[in-house]
Amino acid sequence: MTTYDFDLYVIGGGSGGVRAARMAAGTGARVAIAEEYRYGGTCVIRGCVPKKLLVYASHFHEDFEDAAGFGWSVGDSSHDWPALIAAKDKEINRLERVYEDLLSKAGVTIHKGHARFCDPHTVEIEGRRHTAETVLIATGGSPVFPPDGHGWDLAISSNEVFHLAELPRRVVVCGGGYIAVEFAGVFNGLGSAVTQLYRGPQILRGFDEDVRNALAGEIVKKGIDLRVETIIDRIEQAPDGLHIKLSDGSSLEADAVLAATGRRPNVANLGLDAAEVELTAKGAVKVDAYSRSNQPHIYALGDVTDRIALTPVAIEEAMAFVDTVYRGRPRAMDHGNVPSAVFSQPPVSTVGLSEQAARDKHGAVDVYRSTFRPMKHTLSGRDEKTMMKMIVERATQKVVGLHMVGLDAPEIVQGMAVAIKAGATKADFDATVGIHPTAAEEFVTMREPIPEPEQKAAE
Ligand code: NDP
Repeated sequence: MTTYDFDLYVIGGGSGGVRAARMAAGTGARVAIAEEYRYGGTCVIRGCVPKKLLVYASHFHEDFEDAAGFGWSVGDSSHDWPALIAAKDKEINRLERVYEDLLSKAGVTIHKGHARFCDPHTVEIEGRRHTAETVLIATGGSPVFPPDGHGWDLAISSNEVFHLAELPRRVVVCGGGYIAVEFAGVFNGLGSAVTQLYRGPQILRGFDEDVRNALAGEIVKKGIDLRVETIIDRIEQAPDGLHIKLSDGSSLEADAVLAATGRRPNVANLGLDAAEVELTAKGAVKVDAYSRSNQPHIYALGDVTDRIALTPVAIEEAMAFVDTVYRGRPRAMDHGNVPSAVFSQPPVSTVGLSEQAARDKHGAVDVYRSTFRPMKHTLSGRDEKTMMKMIVERATQKVVGLHMVGLDAPEIVQGMAVAIKAGATKADFDATVGIHPTAAEEFVTMREPIPEPEQKAAE
């Protein structure tokens, strides 16, 4: 019988890898984990967590203004970017230590360095080789820049944005996805002049049309110069900053260009050839529903598999992997009805299908929509609207999509997602008593669907 150094070797110490390593070790398995940068991975070190801290920071600007409508006089205020970055770094350092402590306490052997396969059962790290019965690839993803040759080496990605020495006075954000809209909002809130460029007709491709239009309208009101169907032709270094030529022939000056143009799975330099692990056409590790690669003992999960690139999804894939391999309870993660949020300003949150996707899948649907001024802004005077939308499959009356743009959207939609996951019908929402006065109660008091002709006109 072959004996291995470890039962499980995990490559990658992000959300998915750490959860899998800890839980597997908890079943008695001998587990090692390798991380080449910092434990915690993208989410903790340079993603969700520091991003949300920056979102909080940038929102105070509006809070100070809004306070006046409630009788407060707030004196002169100013923002200290280096102080924010230092506070954020302190918290991220604390979380990194928490992650390492959790691993140590679970009895996981921690390796630091770049791990790569030498053969399907052997991983080399820092010149040492370790064998393992099972290997889990959880190496995440990295930002991608548009094709070279246009001066993109002068731009930064979401990795560098967290470590700028000073707040850029003028920022150009390129992209229309999660990261682009979130950072356009952060810089705008902190006082930078922000231009956001998107190559398509409307930001947030893939989201419900009403969500896309509502958010675009709100961010423009807040002062972001959103230019759609526009791309960067060339970025050049000028004496007083960056000179950016755009596809429409115009040009811009900026102190920073943020490329938020997507991410790709981290598969380079992992020795996947030596392990004979197959990739998808998009360069992700190819896995089945149980996160198993073409090699029966090699698994992969999280962003390196290019399924749904969200931290809680990677964590749930990790839990399913541990149940399958170490607890004798094989199960595949259910990737349906995964809720998500975009921490734009105002935020977006959504679960289930967009109206178009629901029509494509279910045919006839009833659409409920409500747009209103949130109560807080009746006194603050801020011209910001909330948009809430529910899509119901007509035949079964099941709620198949729920969307919100507005204050507290992620906090509200998380609870609604439980109902959608449980298969709630419109009648179940109607039978639920609202909490008054909240915005959330609107989801249980939507009475009349949008009349058909208007729905058609919107298509
Ligand atoms: P996205 O894929 O969401 O967005 C990338 C954007 O860049 C799209 O608007 C895309 O346009 C555009 N783009 C791509 N290539 C080019 C190019 N060559 N020139 C111009 N524009 C280009 O990626 P992100 O990097 O924003 O985020 C990656 C993933 O990380 C997200 O999909 C999400 O899963 C996750 N994430 C989640 C967050 C959250 O939960 N709040 C926050 C941040 C990230 P087009 O639409 O036309 O393709």
